[in-house]
Amino acid sequence: MTIKPLIILPDPILRQASKPIETVDGEVKKLAADMLETMYDAPGIGLAAIQIGVPRRMLVLDVSKEGDDKTPLVFINPEIVSSSDERSVYEEGCLSIPDYYAEVERPAKIKVRHLDAEGREQMTEADGLLATCLQHEIDHLNGILFIDHISKLKREMVIRKFTKAAKLRGSKAL
Ligand SMILES: [Zn+2]
Repeated sequence: MTIKPLIILPDPILRQASKPIETVDGEVKKLAADMLETMYDAPGIGLAAIQIGVPRRMLVLDVSKEGDDKTPLVFINPEIVSSSDERSVYEEGCLSIPDYYAEVERPAKIKVRHLDAEGREQMTEADGLLATCLQHEIDHLNGILFIDHISKLKREMVIRKFTKAAKLRGSKAL
């Protein structure tokens, strides 16, 4: 397992739509292991493959409580098949937008069809933090970031801040 560098806003890679995974082979399993390693190291509770620069439809999560046993989850080709009218609000963050948090409203419960780490078809019903986290990560597979769900004013401020920071990093490298 290898810890991979994270792709950070405003890198245009984050806006790419990811492609489905056709077979869950050794390479896909290795990617899942690398993603989990990278997520735990960050630390974060969710990571989409595109966040390490791989445009494939896979995400990993672990929403277990601090102090409890680790519960790594792998979702391949996830598809939301139903969402509740009931909504819930969580303060979200993102490993690709470090140190920025904002409240986002999303459906409180969802049903997701996907493959698991072994390539078996599964249907997962999620609520609470898992539902929020899954929707956040599935958005990544479609090139959508959580800041797309906040006000335009706030979003533009964050993008400006990260664009400036990226330029500074660039000039230091010269
Ligand atoms: Zn994210």
